[in-house]
Amino acid sequence: MKAKHAPDNLGGQHLMEKRIAIIGGGIVGATAAYYLSTLPGHPNVQVTLFDSGTGQASKAAAGIISPWLSKRRNQQWYRLAKDGADLYPQLIHDAHLGTDVYQQTGTIVTREVPTDLEALADLAVKRQATAAGMGRITTLSAQEVQQRVPLLTAPQPGVFLSGGARVDGAALVNALLTRASEQNLTVRHEAVTLTPDERVVSSLGARQFDRVIVAAGAWTKDLLATLGVTARVRPQKGQLIELAVKDYPLQENMPVVMPEGERDFIPFGHGHLIVGATHEDDKGFDLTPDADVTEDLLASAQRLVANVTAANITTVRVGTRAYTDDFAPFFGPIPDHERFLVASGLGSSGLTTGPQIGRLLAGSALYGGTPDWSEYEKPLTTYLTSSLA
Ligand SMILES: Cc1cc2nc3c(=O)[nH]c(=O)nc-3n(C[C@H](O)[C@H](O)[C@H](O)COP(=O)(O)OP(=O)(O)OC[C@H]3O[C@@H](n4cnc5c(N)ncnc54)[C@H](O)[C@@H]3O)c2cc1C
Repeated sequence: MKAKHAPDNLGGQHLMEKRIAIIGGGIVGATAAYYLSTLPGHPNVQVTLFDSGTGQASKAAAGIISPWLSKRRNQQWYRLAKDGADLYPQLIHDAHLGTDVYQQTGTIVTREVPTDLEALADLAVKRQATAAGMGRITTLSAQEVQQRVPLLTAPQPGVFLSGGARVDGAALVNALLTRASEQNLTVRHEAVTLTPDERVVSSLGARQFDRVIVAAGAWTKDLLATLGVTARVRPQKGQLIELAVKDYPLQENMPVVMPEGERDFIPFGHGHLIVGATHEDDKGFDLTPDADVTEDLLASAQRLVANVTAANITTVRVGTRAYTDDFAPFFGPIPDHERFLVASGLGSSGLTTGPQIGRLLAGSALYGGTPDWSEYEKPLTTYLTSSLA
């Protein structure tokens, strides 16, 4: 796939010596830190990233990058997700990362009923006109799906998109932070709070920064409360299982499979398969793997891959996603707190949208200006209320 740059809407051009804090080291914080270490003018900036690390969604995520056939009607979200997916190949190339972190294996979205499959293929062709990143579209019979993903013993027919990818969220975040640390970034593994007069309280004391990027995912509401800002964002628990399955050495790059009515299957090569994820709205910030959920995920795996048992489960991953009422992410300058930028509410597609958001926030923190990101999101006042307003 040809890598495409996202829209060039990073902000103004005035540059001064700056101290920037990032709170949160998930995909948003890590990509913001990476771009702050590479964009023109970065030597004039010192960046400190604080991350408590607990419950991070980015490290728990399944890693599917394939927004093009989503049923979601929110056009702003779709544009953001599409541009996020498009940004990946360039980001991976520029950061010198390998296929162990990100790979365009392609994704297969399956449909059992032939007319549904045709409708899906039609949708793919229609959307391809404005989404070159989707790559080649191929309609596959059940047998062809199995040839591409021999792990599946009960395949369904599907639509293959060659631009689809899988990413290892934990590896990506770690690698980006390592790259940025070679330039102007210091990472501190600790939780911080904010004071009403806009200081960041850490083991370093209460410090004021020129700009603060709040990239705290599901924890944004608590963090902003002391600033007098109410963020309408709530936690959602997500769980998935990692399985050790038969290795197919000649097919280490099997596509991701998104079966109808089942969990998603993400083969990571070398007999490593991820099946998930769950969406649990009633569990707050709980990070305990639930036995009944693990069983349910395993049952999902068994319906498509014969012979897997509980003995094949190597890990249960749990993370906390951030959700807004309209399921859309928000990001930008916090009203009445001009030093602060925020991003949250990335929901179930945050590995896809996160790098684009991190890149835009980095540009805004570095160059200032009043960004117009209305192509990607509703006004921030939809999600944030300031007591100063
Ligand atoms: C199980 C699961 C599967 C998923 N699968 C996919 C997928 O296949 N594709 C996809 O696109 N998306 C997926 N997602 C969604 C995606 O992972 C998230 O939307 C995205 O990672 C959110 O990134 P973030 O940077 O906003 O937040 P996070 O990754 O949650 O990072 C926030 C960080 O801020 C830190 N923090 C919070 N408060 C403080 C504080 N006071 N001080 C210091 N640090 C703090 C937290 O500890 C955390 O490390 C999945 C999520 C889950 C949970």
